[in-house]
Amino acid sequence: MAQNKKEKIAIVGGSAAGIYLAIFLMKKHPDFEVTILEKNDKLGKKLLATGNGHCNLLNKGMCANAYNDPEFMAKAIKEYPPVRLLDELESLGVRTLEVGDLVYPLSYSASTYLRFLIGLLASLNVKVSLGVRVDSYEAKEKVVLHTGEGRLTYDRVYFAVGGKSQPNLGSDGSLFDEFKRHGYEMAPLRPALCPIKTKEPTKSISGLRHKAYVLLRENGKETHGEKGEILFKDDGLSGIAVFNCQSYIARLKEQGKYEIDVDLFPEMPANSLCEDMVLSAKENPAFYLDAYLEKPLKEYCLKRTGFAGKTPQNRCEIAKLVAILKDLRFEFDASYPFSASQVTTGGVSVKEIDENMLSRKEAGVGFVGECLDIDGLCGGYNLGWALLSALLAAR
Ligand SMILES: Cc1cc2nc3c(=O)[nH]c(=O)nc-3n(C[C@H](O)[C@H](O)[C@H](O)COP(=O)(O)OP(=O)(O)OC[C@H]3O[C@@H](n4cnc5c(N)ncnc54)[C@H](O)[C@@H]3O)c2cc1C
Repeated sequence: MAQNKKEKIAIVGGSAAGIYLAIFLMKKHPDFEVTILEKNDKLGKKLLATGNGHCNLLNKGMCANAYNDPEFMAKAIKEYPPVRLLDELESLGVRTLEVGDLVYPLSYSASTYLRFLIGLLASLNVKVSLGVRVDSYEAKEKVVLHTGEGRLTYDRVYFAVGGKSQPNLGSDGSLFDEFKRHGYEMAPLRPALCPIKTKEPTKSISGLRHKAYVLLRENGKETHGEKGEILFKDDGLSGIAVFNCQSYIARLKEQGKYEIDVDLFPEMPANSLCEDMVLSAKENPAFYLDAYLEKPLKEYCLKRTGFAGKTPQNRCEIAKLVAILKDLRFEFDASYPFSASQVTTGGVSVKEIDENMLSRKEAGVGFVGECLDIDGLCGGYNLGWALLSALLAAR
């Protein structure tokens, strides 16, 4: 008697998107045979690094505008809004902790979350082949993967190979030339969510942190602004608010003139700050600025105002300094490289896939996660996309 043959599926890449996809495929289709092929010697290396080791796995306010392609994401989020994503996680046994809109595993630990997911893979009988790097493939009646271990044949293959960010964790972009060879439209890859180098020197304030409002201007036009902690580096700026501004610059293809305006005292309007300093200067003329700024940042701002070595005393001088404190301007010079970025903007165009994340070009081929041309801002948007794309593929 003829027996129903199990559909053999491979997932290339065993990090966030690949692990989620394997779990949901097996949950929704227990008759499938699913294998993860991962070139690292462990699953989920990048997942371990997320959220400073805490894994910010989702954003409850997940909105399409936080992504490079709001139109595509609006449709995807409509199908899987954050409450539904949370329900899907809950149905796997994941328990979560919410800090504002940021969702973490209840354990608040990326390594514990990864152990939990790997346990699920085992209990769902997902096969895992570690140390297997896929170099190329052919898609005809079946999909044949060419690996260091030889040729492996599957009914269907999903690529979950990530972008090029932090290649030490596995995602080195090695398959993108192969996708191009197969005729896929690709958006150019750029590092996103990373520090920036500025034209103004910042070495004297390197290592200093300050709460600020950061505003990005493209050719003078306000593009994005948010409050956050800014970290000054040897050659530029870092911190989440800067990462987000840099993502906009990367998406805009770094073609314009970009300026970052830093308001070091966002809670105080310029005139109140000025009045406050005038009063302070009367009380403590030589040292009043030490009530506002750490010494290197104070000296830096004084220098940028033209008061190097001198503490402003009268209202007119103080107003000049305040103008700089409320609008400390930096011109974008360059982004940090892929090795310092959290996500990659660019990748396989979403025009190439259907609503089930399957290729419109090649039968039996699909894509999930960051290897597609979708990237989000900081705050759980990128792991959120890994989860959402896996659910779209698994349904
Ligand atoms: C330091 C850091 C912190 C982050 N923090 C957060 C956060 O808190 N919240 C958030 O939402 N996002 C965060 N991100 C972004 C998030 O981690 C990624 O967007 C997400 O991991 C992408 O998942 P992915 O599975 O698509 O790709 P990846 O996680 O990059 O995984 C791709 C996998 O494919 C494997 N692979 C690649 N090529 C091959 C091949 N040819 N053959 C076999 N295997 C291959 C790689 O080894 C890798 O394991 C962070 C990123 C970094 C670097």
